[in-house]
Amino acid sequence: MKTDVLDVKFDGLTMQQALDRAEVLMDRSSRPEGAPVPYVVTPNPEIVWLCRKNRDLARAVAGAAMTLPDGIGVVYGAKILGTPLPERVAGFDFAMGLMARLGQRGGSVFLLGARPGVAEKAAEELGRLYPGLVVCGTQDGYFQDEAPVVEKINGASPDLLLVCLGAPKQELFMERNAARLDAGLMVGLGGSLDVLAGQVRRAPEGWRRLNLEWLYRLIKQPSRIGRMMRLPLFLLAVVRRRVLKK
Ligand code: UDP
Repeated sequence: MKTDVLDVKFDGLTMQQALDRAEVLMDRSSRPEGAPVPYVVTPNPEIVWLCRKNRDLARAVAGAAMTLPDGIGVVYGAKILGTPLPERVAGFDFAMGLMARLGQRGGSVFLLGARPGVAEKAAEELGRLYPGLVVCGTQDGYFQDEAPVVEKINGASPDLLLVCLGAPKQELFMERNAARLDAGLMVGLGGSLDVLAGQVRRAPEGWRRLNLEWLYRLIKQPSRIGRMMRLPLFLLAVVRRRVLKK
């Protein structure tokens, strides 16, 4: 069942359910030949807000096979709207869970995005974390021409393609190329390669448990303040929607 938060339709799944579903989606043997590669989006309040301003992004998000609530703000939003989601499913944790499962059966991942050199460092870290996982290719996210990138990915034919170009670039990339790519599943993951490569630190466990990851990121990267202002706007719009619904 889908849960509507300001017109973005989220899947009401727990992390375990989302991982199980991702494994089914990833299985290419059950997909008709030439069918587009399914993709997963992980919108936080900022992306939900952007969808209201950017129709192309809204369409790309709507075309996803699975839409997971990355931000605690989305979970609160759904609650305020009277249609609670089971839990926050952070995109980063979801991708790590998926790679742990892939590692167990020697599956492969292709890392796309971030500044030159970052994906390679992230690959090293993934090799340490999940020894059975095959990182079958990397590509930085600052390319001009898309065709050779698609060709490179198709040459590697990964089970999982992590698309880490930031929003809205990654969602638009996945939608535009789904029909010509050869991969099991794509996931749009923002700055995750920077985190894996150790360029950006993720909020410590305690902050995350208190649902304050967003505050930690703001303190570490104050330049995000402009983007973060979309969070109160998002919450105001949710409250407004709730009042109008009554
Ligand atoms: N990025 C990229 N190509 C671009 C623009 C951005 O590969 O043309 C990368 C950027 O280097 C960073 C990620 O996309 O690694 C976006 O990170 P951000 O922190 O904005 O994403 P978030 O995690 O907040 O969604």
